Amino acid sequence: MTTICWFRRVLRLDDHPALVAAAADGAVIPLVVLDPEEAAAHPASAERQALSLRPLDDELRARGSRLTVRRGDPRDVLAAVVAETGASAVHTTAGFPFAGDDGLPEAVAAAGAALHLHPTADLVPRGSVRTGAGGTFKVYSPFFKALRQVPVASPLPAPALRAPGSWPATEPADWPEARRAMDRGWEVVAAAAEPGEARAARRLADFLDGAVADYPEHRDQPSRPGTSGLSDALAVGEISARRIWHEALPAWRAGAPGVETFLSELAWREFARDLLHESPGLGVRCWRPEWERFAWDGDGPVAELWRRGETGVDIVDAGMRELFATGRMHNRVRMITASYLTKHLLTDWRVGLAWFERTLTDWDPASNAMNWQWVAGCGPDASPYFRIFNPDTQAAKFDARGAYRRYWLDAAADGARRFAAAAPRSWRVEHSPRPAPVVELAAGRSRALAAYEDLRAG
Ligand SMILES: Cc1cc2nc3c(=O)[nH]c(=O)nc-3n(C[C@H](O)[C@H](O)[C@H](O)COP(=O)(O)OP(=O)(O)OC[C@H]3O[C@@H](n4cnc5c(N)ncnc54)[C@H](O)[C@@H]3O)c2cc1C
Repeated sequence: MTTICWFRRVLRLDDHPALVAAAADGAVIPLVVLDPEEAAAHPASAERQALSLRPLDDELRARGSRLTVRRGDPRDVLAAVVAETGASAVHTTAGFPFAGDDGLPEAVAAAGAALHLHPTADLVPRGSVRTGAGGTFKVYSPFFKALRQVPVASPLPAPALRAPGSWPATEPADWPEARRAMDRGWEVVAAAAEPGEARAARRLADFLDGAVADYPEHRDQPSRPGTSGLSDALAVGEISARRIWHEALPAWRAGAPGVETFLSELAWREFARDLLHESPGLGVRCWRPEWERFAWDGDGPVAELWRRGETGVDIVDAGMRELFATGRMHNRVRMITASYLTKHLLTDWRVGLAWFERTLTDWDPASNAMNWQWVAGCGPDASPYFRIFNPDTQAAKFDARGAYRRYWLDAAADGARRFAAAAPRSWRVEHSPRPAPVVELAAGRSRALAAYEDLRAG
């Protein structure tokens, strides 16, 4: 029997339930489908996946297998590859939370095969962490407490792979649609990425051997490499959350410093997934419906200044430059830039969410939506709206020596040069002096608080 394993944002051989099931069925054809719609919707994330295809093919070839790459609508591609190969089954990861599975079983069945959907290798299956009353947690701390009581299944080792009698035709392992959709050179994202399963595993090992000990102290300082840097590898599935958990577990049990804090952050990712599973509209509607009446502004020139890093607030502009020039942004700075947009600039959180969705290489629909709603004040377990970050105070605390801001803002610094090279010419980055603040911080704060009082007054 020949089966197809569709690698759907699980770009690894380790801990891959769909691959293990396919290998148990017979010879395996590993398949990746590059969907132009996905490239248009989140180009940086798509490009980050494309970068992972060559290392994945290398891993497969080392085991006598190889990757088949096709582009198009997944329904059409699956039907075509089933028809060409006579495969009896397609195994893949259930689309949640990235895309629906609409029409897939029917398309595969019409071609004469069965579609088997397998769970992602998250820490626990969705819906298995429950309150005493059987509901979903709306607050993170009790969620993490309950999660700790649920056994996290061991990761599955990579299976042996049998080759089919012949291989189907393949296409080049890159994603030109993603490159075209990016509003910066794709090399910009490539230069900041470390793609591939092996490198993700090494990064985790290095982190657990070193930086994790200082993680609680350093994780909020954007100028330090104080965090794991694994979010993009997790987002494209080069490493599983279960693998991270189990690699860290012995050190956690032994009481090694920093490990519990690190795993508690990984649990935020899990919390976000549960929330999105429970509320599929998390990225579209305010989780607290009364917040739909809040007087946020829509997209416009002010939001454009934020996107370009021209608000005149150094820490905000530095963060927005980091995002554009690397596809990443430090978590503390994400919180500051998101708070500034939704509070000082009184702009709808969905405007910021959409920009992060286009530009982040670690874009994840659950984490992005939960965090934006958390910062904006309209989500479950949200940061209270009246607690408004002062970006300058935040910068003084977390970038005390100004190294992060200088790196991205001083014209002669490497970061500023990287940004200037990435930015479209029309932004005229090299010729623009640092702008005056779009809004005085005190005035922006007062305006935000007044809008909040209006909401409360109904
Ligand atoms: C407005 C906003 C939007 C965000 N959008 C995304 C997104 O689209 N994709 C994404 O992966 N993360 C998102 N985050 C969360 C966080 O910023 C990144 O996961 C983090 O910067 C990744 O760096 P790291 O891998 O070095 O994290 P580490 O500090 O090493 O943490 C380990 C892992 O825990 C998880 N994690 C850590 N913090 C969070 C968090 N606050 N929420 C959810 N998971 C977390 C990540 O998977 C991360 O890789 C967002 C945060 C904010 C404030």
